[in-house]
Amino acid sequence: MSLRLPRLPRLPRLPRRPFSLKLQLTAVFGALVIVASAAITWELSDMLRTRVRADAGRSLSFIASNASQIFGAGLRANASVVDVLARREALWADGLDSEQVRRTLATLEVTQGNAAWIGVADIDGRVRASTGNLLLGANVAERLWFQTARNGLFVGDLHPAKLLEPLLPANASGEPLRFLDFAAPIQRDGRTVGVLGIHANWDWAAQVIGTVLPPQARSAGIEVFIFDRNGNLIFAPDGRSQQLAREGLRLPAVEAEAAVLPWHDGGAFLTAAARLPSTGPATDLGWTIVAREPAKLAFAAVDEATRKALLIGLLIALTGALLAGVAAHRFGVDMRRMARAVRDVEAGVAGARIPSAGSSAEMRTLSRAVGSMTHRLVTAREELERQVRQRTHELEIVNAELGRQAQTDALTGLLNRRVFDPMLVRLLADSRRNGRELSVMMIDADHFKRINDVHGHPVGDRVLRMLADTLRDRLRASDVIARFGGEEFAVILPETPSSKARKTAQALADRIAGHSDPVWGAVTVSIGVSSCGDGMTPPEELLRQADEALYQAKAEGRNRVCVYRR
Ligand code: GH3
Ligand code: MG
Ligand code: MG
Repeated sequence: MSLRLPRLPRLPRLPRRPFSLKLQLTAVFGALVIVASAAITWELSDMLRTRVRADAGRSLSFIASNASQIFGAGLRANASVVDVLARREALWADGLDSEQVRRTLATLEVTQGNAAWIGVADIDGRVRASTGNLLLGANVAERLWFQTARNGLFVGDLHPAKLLEPLLPANASGEPLRFLDFAAPIQRDGRTVGVLGIHANWDWAAQVIGTVLPPQARSAGIEVFIFDRNGNLIFAPDGRSQQLAREGLRLPAVEAEAAVLPWHDGGAFLTAAARLPSTGPATDLGWTIVAREPAKLAFAAVDEATRKALLIGLLIALTGALLAGVAAHRFGVDMRRMARAVRDVEAGVAGARIPSAGSSAEMRTLSRAVGSMTHRLVTAREELERQVRQRTHELEIVNAELGRQAQTDALTGLLNRRVFDPMLVRLLADSRRNGRELSVMMIDADHFKRINDVHGHPVGDRVLRMLADTLRDRLRASDVIARFGGEEFAVILPETPSSKARKTAQALADRIAGHSDPVWGAVTVSIGVSSCGDGMTPPEELLRQADEALYQAKAEGRNRVCVYRR
């Protein structure tokens, strides 16, 4: 059985409030400046780095190549000294251990400053003469230098001292003694009679490098290394050759140009290399002299400049963002003031007007434009309201006039039938209630057609107006007088008994007949009277009765009053 959970109603999503203009401008401006300054700094740093690599690389290459030239020259000089001496037959004329030989060796020791041992061995390998008499009488037949040099000039690559180690003072650097061998066959009468050999102390390398390094090399961290033909380390500064070689430091993958390379002893170094110049098959030992400078130190100035540039960029970004923020804030204040003013104007707050904005020229123009537009709108609205009021007033007057016209007759100003009929109904009801008799008169001008015919229609109209005026004058204010159409009038006389009505009618008829007009002369009327004592007679019946009485008056000769009799 599966359990159904009721669905939860979804919460309405609140609309995300847009970020303020100030925040947006500040962020955009700050980000822009940071990106721009980072890009410029990156480009600048790259350029400086290339420049420094080229400059520092050139001086490292110069050091390496100088050292290799000096080493090459040194090797060649030692080799040629040995070669020349071994070939000088006169020297060996008195044997390999003559006084002359010993003196020459002693002189040689002095002139060859780095010779640790100079000696002469006979063809069997026995040492016959040597500087300091070291190894005198010893057998060197097994030594490589001896064996090789019997057949020609030999320059031997660096090797540890074997026989001489215990006999010589220790190295100043603390490293074990190592030698370079220079040896040549001694010739006499076209035969090889022995071998002349020099063991040059490897301290020579440190001396040579000391001469090629500029004074500031140590503080700049510049060091020179020598690697043999197979890439093995044979010289490192500060007597570290053995230690670094043990640690596996080998010739890095150097190229023709100076480059930043990782080294086995840790870190990246700007590295330049030079090969030992080849001065002949014997002296070409295949060394590579390498000069290096820690990349950190070489590019320290560049890194410092980069850091400074970034910092300045950051400061500019902060300042820019701040200024943008201030500008946006002022702009925002103006906008809010304007929005509030527009709302006030919309709500019809008295005296509300759009304030002039001062945050920028554009805002000022905008606020003035909105202000003048609003002013025009408000003025137009007020004018419209005024016109509406005036029109309404005029309409009320017209309506009142229309109402009046709807109730009255245009020619005489008396009530018309539309008003007369309901009034008769109401007054009959009053009569029913108060029991007072009500009378009705029907009045018709006699031979009125003749007046029209003789004097014209306008005169007929004047006669009708005269009749209406007479009725108004002679009757009570409470009497209801109406023009029934043509030259016929009807009058309701409330609370008037038949006799009184008859008298009033007669007085009216007399009055009209008694008036003579210079234009139309005299006019007479006939009047029919009907009355109702209890208010029970229907209105149309009462009128019909009055009409009947009027008909009778006409019939009896006109200019008279007749009262309806049942
Ligand atoms: P009688 O004595 O039998 O009433 O004769 P009469 O001529 O008065 O009656 P009749 O019904 O033959 O004529 C009425 C005349 O009233 C006809 C008509 O032209 C005239 N009349 C009706 N209304 C007006 C009006 O408003 N102005 C004018 N000038 N004449 C009107
Ligand atoms: Mg008539
Ligand atoms: Mg008439």
